[in-house]
Amino acid sequence: MPVIHFLDVTNRDGVQTARTGLSKFGKTMLNFYLGRLGVAQSELGFPSLFHEVPYVRANVALAQAGAFGELRLSGWCRAITADVAASLSVTAEAGQQAGRLRHYNLSISTSDQMISHKFRGKLDRDAIIAEMTAAVAVARDGGAETIGVNAEDASRTDDGFLLEFALAAKEAGADRVRYCDTIGGDTPERIRERFAKLASAVGIPVETHCHNDLGMAVANSLSGAFGDLDAGQDAWVNTCVNGIGERAGNADLLSCLLAFRHGFGAEDRATIGDPVDLSWARRLALWTSYAFGQPLPQGQPGVGRNAFAHESGIHADGALKDRQNYELYDDDTLGPFPADWHAREGRVVLTGEYGGKAGFRHVMDGLGIEVTDEELTFRLVQLCGAATGKPLTDDELRLIAGYPDQLALLYPGLLD
Ligand SMILES: [Zn+2]
Repeated sequence: MPVIHFLDVTNRDGVQTARTGLSKFGKTMLNFYLGRLGVAQSELGFPSLFHEVPYVRANVALAQAGAFGELRLSGWCRAITADVAASLSVTAEAGQQAGRLRHYNLSISTSDQMISHKFRGKLDRDAIIAEMTAAVAVARDGGAETIGVNAEDASRTDDGFLLEFALAAKEAGADRVRYCDTIGGDTPERIRERFAKLASAVGIPVETHCHNDLGMAVANSLSGAFGDLDAGQDAWVNTCVNGIGERAGNADLLSCLLAFRHGFGAEDRATIGDPVDLSWARRLALWTSYAFGQPLPQGQPGVGRNAFAHESGIHADGALKDRQNYELYDDDTLGPFPADWHAREGRVVLTGEYGGKAGFRHVMDGLGIEVTDEELTFRLVQLCGAATGKPLTDDELRLIAGYPDQLALLYPGLLD
């Protein structure tokens, strides 16, 4: 039976958001949390971009060492042979043959709007298909295990060309096609029909990639996924943590998970194929808010401050009699709130960018964190603190102490 998978794109699309971002150590932490939450895949960024290279190498090594559980890491490239070749070489050059990045999404625009007004005569439809199939061939020949091909602006691409593009991608060796609602204009009924038609005609899953310009990214993601299921294909749902992303954002990861799990009519229809553990949901959402410096709206589904708060007379009375009168699901399923050492009130000794050994040992001992390589872990605490510019959280300190050799790859030349 077809199932739903989640492919989170926060570390690629989310970090592109204007006026905010994550350090490379922050992106690494996000992969850690996504692994704990149990989603299938994290699009980790742009493998060949010069300032991503040490991060990509470190994260491939961390995945290999088991830091992210079963999480697959994938790279995003333009569907251009030179970009794909450069991306493939990043981990190969480091001599990490066993730990190479094995999953890719290759992207090119398909709509007439983009062909006319972005490519401006440099590419026509035939050239787009030729570029894309050549890029897929390079990825396949380079040892990629899975390849997704992204149709940027698919929601403004006509059925005929979208089908031609998707069939050519499959023929070239792609495993999935990503239907990007790049400007967020799609609507639930339309996207379900288009997904069902395309996925059944091509015979491979069509990924949802929905932006939130009309506030419908989550609804469209569910509908698109149901279109895949209608066609007998697995669904791959692109998300971002806390709905961050270009302009009005992407489909919120937790909202999508909750909607498939608790939505009326959805919970019987959809089987989530990933080992999702929602008990990490609050730690992930609140850490992400902290790391991006973006406060969570009070009414954010699941994790906003008011998501389970009742005050008005009729609601409070009803919630006191039986919480199910006014609550869709049990808030305990979302796990504990973070209670980080650095957020303690009153007298406290911390560690970080300018910390010394006494404070470092005090905090690590206090948290019960086992440190196997004290010198390297201490220096990494300073470097990661310098990278984020904020107090390190308990989970950050735990990851640093647990995987110092792999995290050292984030800072080439600084720890030799
Ligand atoms: Zn996007």
